[in-house]
Amino acid sequence: MINADLLRSLAIDPSGLDPAPPWTPRGSAGIQRLNGRHPCVRCGRPSTVAGVLETPEHGRRWVDRCVPCLVATTPRGGPQAPLAETPAALQEAARTTGVALTTAADEA
Ligand SMILES: [Zn+2]
Repeated sequence: MINADLLRSLAIDPSGLDPAPPWTPRGSAGIQRLNGRHPCVRCGRPSTVAGVLETPEHGRRWVDRCVPCLVATTPRGGPQAPLAETPAALQEAARTTGVALTTAADEA
C-alpha cells in the first residue's frame, strides 16, 4: 500500500489517479494493470510497478511507477541511533556476531 505522504511529497493529486478495484486475496488486478502501459506518476515513462493508495477521500487509486522511481520513492529506515553513535553500534554488532571489524574516521 502506498503512503499518502508519498503522493503529497511528489505533488500528485490522488483525485487524478485511476480508481483501483477492491482488494482481494491473491488478486491479479495489479498484474493486469501492468499490461495497460500506464505512465509512471513521477516521470511519465512506462510503469513497471502497480501500487495502490487508499484514502478515505479518494478510495483506492492506482499509483503506477517505473522501477527507478519506485526505488527513488520507497521510504527507507533511517539510522536508529544518532550518527555519532554509529561506530559504537557497528562495533557492538560486530562483537555480538563475531565479525572482525576495523573502523576508521575521517577527522577532516
Ligand atoms: Zn518513473
